[in-house]
Amino acid sequence: MKHYMPTRILTGTGILQKHKKVFPELGKRCYIITSKSSGRLSGALDDLTAVLNEYSIGYDIYDRISQNPTVVSCIEAGKNANSFKADFIVGVGGGSVLDASKTAAVVAANPELTEELIYKQAWENKPVPLILIGTTAGTGSEVTYVSVMTNKDGIKKSIHNDDLYAVYTFGDPSYTISMPEHVRISTAIDALAHLLESYFNNSSSDLSRAFSLQGVRILYPKLQLLAKHQELNEEDRETVYNASILGGLAINITGTVFCHTLGYYFTEHYHLLHGFACALFTNELLDYEYNNHRDYCDAFFDVLQIDRSEMKELISSLLPETEIHLTEEEIQALLPRYTNNNSVKNTYGTMSVNDIEEILRRL
Ligand code: NAP
Ligand code: FE
Repeated sequence: MKHYMPTRILTGTGILQKHKKVFPELGKRCYIITSKSSGRLSGALDDLTAVLNEYSIGYDIYDRISQNPTVVSCIEAGKNANSFKADFIVGVGGGSVLDASKTAAVVAANPELTEELIYKQAWENKPVPLILIGTTAGTGSEVTYVSVMTNKDGIKKSIHNDDLYAVYTFGDPSYTISMPEHVRISTAIDALAHLLESYFNNSSSDLSRAFSLQGVRILYPKLQLLAKHQELNEEDRETVYNASILGGLAINITGTVFCHTLGYYFTEHYHLLHGFACALFTNELLDYEYNNHRDYCDAFFDVLQIDRSEMKELISSLLPETEIHLTEEEIQALLPRYTNNNSVKNTYGTMSVNDIEEILRRL
C-alpha cells in the first residue's frame, strides 16, 4: 500500500470559529478565491472575513471562478494573489473553486506559468500555503491532490501533484444548506460515484476499499432521503459531507474509472452538472462488474447488505431526465479519447475501448 495525504481535516458545525487560530499562523495577507454566489450564500465568506478582521489579516477577494474552471481563470487568480503579496490563499466554494484554488496557489508562487507549463507541471517554487473551505458535499476535492480544469480547447483535463494538497480544510456541513436541490443531488451522487469507482478499480487497496465501503455504508441511506425529496437535517448533512471526504480519500489512492472520463464529455457538450454527468455511467459500471467479476461484485453488496438492483434503481431515480443519445458519428469521433486512457484501464478487470463504444451506444 502507498498513501500520502498531508491535509489537516477539520469538520463539523462551527469549525472555523473553533480553529480560527490557524489563520494568523499562516501570515498577515490572505487572498480569497471564490465563485459568484456560493461563498456568500453559504455564509462561509462572512465567517472567514470575520476571522480575518479579528486577527487584522488583510485580504482581497477574487470571485470569478466558474463551474468547471478554466485554466485562464486559475492563472488570473494566481497572478492577482502574487501581486497582492499573499502569504496564503483560501478557496471558498464547491469543487470548481477548490480545484481552481489549488492551481492558483501554484501560480501565485510561480507567476510566469502558462497553461502549457501548468499541464507539464513545470514549476520551481512550492505553492503559497492553501486552506480550502467546501460549500458542496460531493467532490472530496478538499483532500485530493488533483485539480480539474478546462483547457483552452474546452476539454476538462486534470493535474495530479502532491504540491496541490491544502494545508488545512475546513468542512462545515452548514455551508451546504444553501445548495439548490439539483446541486445537492448531483454532488451527493458524485460522492457515490467516487466511492464505487474507487472500489471497482484495478488500483484499489485494502485502505481505499475501507474508505469506499464505509463511505457507501453511510451515504446510501441519505441518498434514499434525497430521492424522496426529503430535507436533510444537520446530522444527515454531516454524514453526506463525511462520505464525500471518504470518497476523496478513496480516489486519491486509486483515481476514478471510465465513468468519470466519459462524464467529462457530457459536461463539456451537454452542460450537465459534474455529478450527474459521471453518474450517467455508474449503472454501466455496476453491470460490467456483475457480468465480468461476479464474486468481487457480490462480495461488495453482501458486506454492505445492499441490493444491487435497488442501488441501480436509486441511481436512476436521482438522475435528471435527459434526451441525450449519441449519433454513430459522434461516438466514432469520441473513441480516440478513450484509447489508452488511464481511467478506462483503471476499471476493475480489462475494459477495452470496444466496451466503451457499446456503453455509449446504449445511452
Ligand atoms: P461546483 O461546480 O463547484 O458548483 C456548482 C454550482 O453550485 C455553482 O453554480 C455554484 O454557484 C453552486 N454552489 C456551490 N455551493 C453552493 C452553496 N453552498 N449554496 C449555493 N450554491 C452553491 O460543484 P461541485 O460539484 O462541487 O464541483 C464540480 C467540479 O469539481 C468539477 O469541475 C469536477 O471536475 C471537480 N471535481 C474535482 C475532484 C478532485 O478530486 N479535485 C473530484 C470530483 C470533482 P456559484 O458558481 O454561483 O458560486
Ligand atoms: Fe467527481
